[in-house]
Amino acid sequence: MAGLPLKGALSDEQLPIVENGGIIMVDEKIHAIGSYPQIQAEANGLNAENINIQTNMVCLPGLIDAHTHICFGGSRAKDYALRNSGKTYLEIAKAGGGIWDTVTETRKATTSSLIEGVKTRADRHLTHGVTTIEVKSGYGLSVQEELKMLRAIALAKEQCQSDLIPTCLAAHMVPKDYKGGPADYLLEISTSLFPILKKEQLAKRIDAFVEEGAFSPASIAAYFDKAKAMGFDITVHADQFSTGGSGVAVKYKAVSADHLEASSEKEIQLLAKSNVVATALPGASMALGCNYAPARRFLNAGAALAIASDWNPGSAPMGNLMVQAAVLGAFEKLSNTEVLAGITYRAAAALNLQDRGILKTGLLADFIAFPTNDYQEILYQQGMMPPSLVYKKGKLAVNI
Ligand SMILES: [Zn+2]
Repeated sequence: MAGLPLKGALSDEQLPIVENGGIIMVDEKIHAIGSYPQIQAEANGLNAENINIQTNMVCLPGLIDAHTHICFGGSRAKDYALRNSGKTYLEIAKAGGGIWDTVTETRKATTSSLIEGVKTRADRHLTHGVTTIEVKSGYGLSVQEELKMLRAIALAKEQCQSDLIPTCLAAHMVPKDYKGGPADYLLEISTSLFPILKKEQLAKRIDAFVEEGAFSPASIAAYFDKAKAMGFDITVHADQFSTGGSGVAVKYKAVSADHLEASSEKEIQLLAKSNVVATALPGASMALGCNYAPARRFLNAGAALAIASDWNPGSAPMGNLMVQAAVLGAFEKLSNTEVLAGITYRAAAALNLQDRGILKTGLLADFIAFPTNDYQEILYQQGMMPPSLVYKKGKLAVNI
């Protein structure tokens, strides 16, 4: 992925492939990368240990999932069945389903069970080659319950081999049991929760669900003003069912605008002209049975496109990034390079991480190796050929 542009369309001819390659790792980082004979000469000088990965393998940077909600209690299998039986959103909510069910179950869950859940899902992601995972709160929806989630994510991070990047999504919806309007709720969160996030270093990122029925662009303004002033990165759930969120993302110079299934030409142009990464979440389209974000048009307009799983109990329960990215590629006619960029260095940009996503000297030694000698096999097999080897920060994490 070295040397490719952050924004715009990419052809497979642009993909730099190092044949018969080698990597020198020192501690957590890539010390050198290039053709094996060249690397071997340098390694001899360093007295390096030789790890011989078998021939006929393709190495990629460790995958990055820039949008998940893998900290939660309960299951929404019933919602999925009801939705597929033709029930509406309101009917499902009346039957005790919907996001409020997950909020109730997450509030009931102990911290240790939340940690276990995150670890189990992060470990499964790791076996699929995902070495960095963003994890949102947003099912607590009160100062105390959001803190419980973010502390659970921080504790899970210590126990996981993959990197977890926490995000505060207290602005997921106004909780049903809150006595006050959206402005009161957001003011309470920003006043009481934001300082604790800073003090305990629980999250550097603030997210909000900008959508009809959640928060309008006008109602979220003061909240994002406060977050910006305190130095948080902004990210937005934008344009999932109605437009408006992408405009908010551009206005607040967000690191990313995620979802975008409803984006029209206006939103596409707006995001493409900005430095906001457009993040498509095909897993949500697959589970809800609705259209994909117009990824091809975003790329053609010059946007940076990332692809993430949105792994969550309600609308994206699958949690397989490679399957979803490959399927999006087939539907949206994305080149191999565009799809792979979307789950590596462009996803790193969505998380404002400069130290990963590319196999390059000085960056983290996060890489994965697939049992094939043709990189095209990886997406062709649509996620059913997991990597045989996963290295995280220079350490072998998965070997199958
Ligand atoms: Zn989401």
